[in-house]
Amino acid sequence: MIQDILPHIFNNSYRSDAKPDEDSRIAVFKDNRLLLKIDSLKENVDFPRLKDFKGDSKQDLTYIFSVDEEQFFLAEALCLNNYNPVFEIPSGYEFYNLRHIMEYELEPKRYMHAAFTAYHLAQWYKNNSFCGRCGNEIMKDLHERALVCPKCGNKIYPRINPAVIVGVINGDRILLTKYKTGFAHNALIAGFTEIGETIEETVTREVMEETGLKVKNIRYYKSQPWGTAEDLLVGFFCDVDGDDKIHMDESELKYAEWVSPEDIVLQPYDYSLTNEMMRMFKEGNRVWN
Ligand SMILES: [Zn+2]
Repeated sequence: MIQDILPHIFNNSYRSDAKPDEDSRIAVFKDNRLLLKIDSLKENVDFPRLKDFKGDSKQDLTYIFSVDEEQFFLAEALCLNNYNPVFEIPSGYEFYNLRHIMEYELEPKRYMHAAFTAYHLAQWYKNNSFCGRCGNEIMKDLHERALVCPKCGNKIYPRINPAVIVGVINGDRILLTKYKTGFAHNALIAGFTEIGETIEETVTREVMEETGLKVKNIRYYKSQPWGTAEDLLVGFFCDVDGDDKIHMDESELKYAEWVSPEDIVLQPYDYSLTNEMMRMFKEGNRVWN
């Protein structure tokens, strides 16, 4: 999965006193696209360093996280929609849509995880320039990763949307789906947790809504941060309960079928929790027991 970057260590501790140096990595966004260098074979990805930019750019940088000893900063002035460049784009770098570059298996993987997480934080900063309660301009909290309104005291933490990924098992088959629009590859049942429900209730409700099936024996598998959707994905396996006839929600899905391990076609890259869960089933790893 995208966050599995060992032996490298991702450190998201908030440090308001972090100062960029010449080798610090810089996340620059333009219209939700991130400035990266990707080689012509689409195998390697690189973040620009501060020294790659000409001119004085330090005043607009916000520390976001580290990977090992490498610090990452967000170039806030360039995250705005009304793009107003304050420094030149370094040679070889271009702006990429993260959803598009997921189609490549880029190395090092730690930079893909950094890119997704930087996107999540950039969206949060960009969407919270003003206080939603009183309209005053918002400021960064000095002690923790939060934004605070100096006028009314409203405090805003990064928003993380919980959502489930569900592998529904029916004997030696698993329920695969394809979305009607957007994502083109095989997937599992997925959906957001609604206010007032537990995450296990989300599993039951989403499977029922999308396929009309009842489930039992809901077992937690793993979770995954998914920054490009500002989500935390929580993976579960469960068993179909009773009637296994699928009544597909045609407004959301174009395909929902029971599939045997040998017939599972995996996603072309191994970034997602969904793909890992499908792969576990395909390879006969009974991780859900
Ligand atoms: Zn306020």
